[in-house]
Amino acid sequence: MEQKKRYELPQLAYGYKDLAPFLSEEQLTVHHTKHHAAYVNAANALLDKMDKARADGADLDWKALMKDLSFQVGGHYLHSVFWENLAPAGKGGEPKGRLLDELNKEFGSLDRFKKEFSAVAGGAEGSGWAVLVYCLATHKPLIMQVEKHNVNAIPGFRVLMALDVWEHAYYIDYKNLRPKYVEAFWNHVNWDAVAKKLDAILR
Ligand code: MN
Repeated sequence: MEQKKRYELPQLAYGYKDLAPFLSEEQLTVHHTKHHAAYVNAANALLDKMDKARADGADLDWKALMKDLSFQVGGHYLHSVFWENLAPAGKGGEPKGRLLDELNKEFGSLDRFKKEFSAVAGGAEGSGWAVLVYCLATHKPLIMQVEKHNVNAIPGFRVLMALDVWEHAYYIDYKNLRPKYVEAFWNHVNWDAVAKKLDAILR
């Protein structure tokens, strides 16, 4: 049978030591090679399971499977975005051009956007994400607060930037101090990568 394409753990565009002290080598390595890799493996196992059931003509617990698939693939997708929108300090550029215009137009100022995004990140109950998306119906950026990897997500909205606020994202370096982690995040945003995503949508 033809080998089907599967999800893959993306390579990081920087080294495991390059985001310190925002993220230590240990924190980043564990997050990427253990946590993210686990979502990739679990998502692929679900695809294999469906393929096998189809080949065997077997039934599956579709409700449980769909829930699991949404969680695992959502986790893989958001982590992939997250790594892309991080950069070593001073290497991510500044918000400018269309991205800055859109943020200013919607939020009033870049500072106001950061304040709202930080509040959304800080307010996620338990495990979740703050995510900047773009709505093609209203032509504006929106902030989403995603619980786990998939709950509260709005289908079809294009993700520009994500911040992981699961404890596994920061606990080694920050313990319980999520606000300190969120504050440090702003020095490591790869604004050029975020702008590139927006430009690709608006083109
Ligand atoms: Mn994570």
